[in-house]
Amino acid sequence: MRRFLVLVMAAAIVAALVPGAQAARKLRVVTTIPDLKSLTEAVGGDLVEVDSLTRGTQNFHEAEVRPSMMLKLRRADVMIENGVELDAWADVAANGANNPKIVRGAVGRVDISRGVPILEVPSIRVDRSMGDVHPLGNPHFSLDPGLAPVITQNIVDGLARVEPENRAVFAKNREAFVAKLEQEMSRWQQMMAPVRGAKVVVFHPDFIYFLTRFGLVQVATLEDRPGIPASPGHLVNVIKLMKEEKVKMILVEPWNDVKLANRVAEEAGAKAFVMATAVGAVKGADNYIAAIDFNIKTLSEGLR
Ligand SMILES: [Zn+2]
Repeated sequence: MRRFLVLVMAAAIVAALVPGAQAARKLRVVTTIPDLKSLTEAVGGDLVEVDSLTRGTQNFHEAEVRPSMMLKLRRADVMIENGVELDAWADVAANGANNPKIVRGAVGRVDISRGVPILEVPSIRVDRSMGDVHPLGNPHFSLDPGLAPVITQNIVDGLARVEPENRAVFAKNREAFVAKLEQEMSRWQQMMAPVRGAKVVVFHPDFIYFLTRFGLVQVATLEDRPGIPASPGHLVNVIKLMKEEKVKMILVEPWNDVKLANRVAEEAGAKAFVMATAVGAVKGADNYIAAIDFNIKTLSEGLR
């Protein structure tokens, strides 16, 4: 009898130590950028375990495919990419991971740009060899809260392709998230109302969707073209334009040349601000809503 009790207790201890043993394994999702990690966590809830291949402080255009990326992708059930060439390295990483579940065309490969109206599509053919990193148009739409409903719907569809039995849960989680976002949106619109129509300059053009959403105007970029460094001649023109248009703010990415932005701002009588170009790009911007909140606060205060 005593021996039997010991066995029962041992079994109970094992069960307590391995809580997930009975539950279904979580879906392993790897996203190319942290914004999509945050949105996938909102949609997937307890059913997913999400990792990002890049950090928010990085320039996604220039991300280097490393063995650590391939290790993450090797055990992934789903890979979620931004598309429109923001993460043009995604195929190299996926193919290097030797995981047929997530290669282009596989069920577990999700492109969230589907249905997103792309801005700044070049009217002439732009070759990447010319150095332009936006050959298919501007890919920086993920932090426009007005596009989150489309993006999260693409995530629901992608996860449900791999786990159809959980579609209803994903859809319900998304609905709750979108409802929360709508609440925040009216607050954000209110905060931005007094500065509508204000003109700003950006270093790299990664805010066009956001600025358009909230009625702000981008009058110039410090880069000559997307991904092409600022040339002295171009900067002279930008400074002149900023003075004429009374531009108060230059928006800078944390990975960019903040010192140069500060110098240009000083010459033009403006100020440079480091923005949350992605989730995790600046302190406090550690999820999707927090990142947008940071940008709304920075712009509404900086433009006043
Ligand atoms: Zn870009």
